[in-house]
Amino acid sequence: MNMNERVMNIIDALERLYPDAKCSLEYKSALELLVATQLAAQCTDARVNIVTQSLYKKYKTAEDFANADSKELEEDIKPTGFYHNKAKNIKNCCKMIIDEFNGQIPNSLEDLLKLPGVGRKTANLVLGDIFGVPGVVVDTHAKRLANRIGLSSSTDPAKIELDLMKLIPKEKWSSFCHRLVYHGRAVCKARKPECHKCEIRKWCERRNLEINVE
Ligand code: SF4
Repeated sequence: MNMNERVMNIIDALERLYPDAKCSLEYKSALELLVATQLAAQCTDARVNIVTQSLYKKYKTAEDFANADSKELEEDIKPTGFYHNKAKNIKNCCKMIIDEFNGQIPNSLEDLLKLPGVGRKTANLVLGDIFGVPGVVVDTHAKRLANRIGLSSSTDPAKIELDLMKLIPKEKWSSFCHRLVYHGRAVCKARKPECHKCEIRKWCERRNLEINVE
């Protein structure tokens, strides 16, 4: 079986397994997703969702974040960790959205990457989930699974992104990455991969990983 057939089988299986896969961060607008993904760095989505529940009642617009008192914003996002840098980036990011993008979240990768605190992962997530522009989102789960399955041998997220872009049909980039996250949480866990019950096992390069880590 060639690589293309393997990849197609994996895509089909993941679509069957996780038909409704979506971003697990809760948001109601582009701004909320942009802020949530910045808060999610080195933090679980579940914890971010708890913090943003009250955060988004207090800060509703880019102006609210841009004009926030730094110390107060830091306190508001403290449970997500690295709160000093995150507060600074969120404020500066919102300032730039107001000053350079007329208060609108930009809809191109190039412009999103200009925003303070926004890396390729966040930019691609916003592109895919808000603007419907396909983007490959390489988070910690996608990175681990891409390596284990054999879709990329790189440890650099930017290179993994390029490898996946070549292998996955463009219209499936965003949904495929969401499904990798689901599979990483449910089966191909970081410390305890459960290969024996993995439904993409036969197309995975590390299908015996479970035995090897025991
Ligand atoms: S076979 Fe094992 S290593 Fe491969 S994707 Fe499944 S759980 Fe992960």
